[in-house]
Amino acid sequence: MADTRNLGRLLRRVHLSGTVSRADLAERMGLNRSTIMALTAELSAAGLVHEERPAVTGKAGRPSLVVRPNAEGFYVLAFDVAVDRLVAARVGLGGAVLERRTATRSRAGADLETVVSVLAHFGQDLRKNAPGGSVCVGIGASYCGMIRPEDGTVRFGPDMGWVDQAFGAELGRRLGLGLHVAVGNEAHLGALAELERGAGVGFRNLVYLHGDVGVGGGIIVGGKLLDGDAGYGCELGHMLVNPYDGRPCGCGSAGCLEAEVGERALLDAAGWPPELFGREQIGAVVTAAERGDESARTALRTVGDWLGIGVVNLINLFNPGIVVFGGMLRDMYPGVAPQLRDRIARNVLPVSRERVRLCTSALGDDATLVGAAELGFAGLMANPLG
Ligand SMILES: [Zn+2]
Repeated sequence: MADTRNLGRLLRRVHLSGTVSRADLAERMGLNRSTIMALTAELSAAGLVHEERPAVTGKAGRPSLVVRPNAEGFYVLAFDVAVDRLVAARVGLGGAVLERRTATRSRAGADLETVVSVLAHFGQDLRKNAPGGSVCVGIGASYCGMIRPEDGTVRFGPDMGWVDQAFGAELGRRLGLGLHVAVGNEAHLGALAELERGAGVGFRNLVYLHGDVGVGGGIIVGGKLLDGDAGYGCELGHMLVNPYDGRPCGCGSAGCLEAEVGERALLDAAGWPPELFGREQIGAVVTAAERGDESARTALRTVGDWLGIGVVNLINLFNPGIVVFGGMLRDMYPGVAPQLRDRIARNVLPVSRERVRLCTSALGDDATLVGAAELGFAGLMANPLG
């Protein structure tokens, strides 16, 4: 019987790489070929991976067998509660989104019962559509607020007005699968997803900024999420950048980064009326600026400078290899990139700015959903035969 730790490491490697040869696995995991063969044999007997001959390689000699994840046989249910939408997906081992359901969400807010009932209905529907004999191995959910990791309670969800709502427990009960629902903060999960499957692959130190109405963050240090003492770390949106005449923030303070660079900050600065909001309007400001609209250009310069001040502090503090902009900040990025670069050139320590890369999320709007799926897979990776 192979040891659980190495079985988990190997399954995780296959899960993240897709089809991979036994020889590559041996090299990347630092194990000899016979150990790899024993591990893959156990995972294959459990049905988690398939081993097969590779397509013709052209090389002489016997080719190494390739291992691929059993994507249809094992899956997780992943959920994303974002500011404007509710998403549910069936995600196969290997990480492919096999099927999804999406509902738009009103900004007016909703109670726990309403949100959970939409998600549970989607989840049951996705499960019904899964191939016969396939196994749901976990459930992960991303939520746009502060989450207690142990039980998935939403401690503070400002956009829905939620305080201490038992979201994870209630979703688990309504799904009725006897599985724990692991819940994470959307920006934490976005950061992990970008690190493992997106723009941050190959990096060990990453800062992820996720914009919607506000701004959330995830900081990866040495390959690990900086989650803080109780799991509420990385609230980059509430970094104080403008203490003297800052805009009021949803947290009760004023001059926080998200108050200065969030959706409303940009739209107000550009002179957009309050009834216009959302991602499309952010794109509209950027397009207007590109066409020469002076108030849109000024708004992007102002907001871009505040964002730059926040990013400067983060680079000086954490020396990341890459800073990734996700959510609404992805739409804003083309309009603010010059201000970011300017601030970095002026205010970041020269040694810290030498190598840092700025980019938009490679997983796009799926970053948080992919992160939720990975959270759902965590139990299987820790103990593949359990
Ligand atoms: Zn704040």
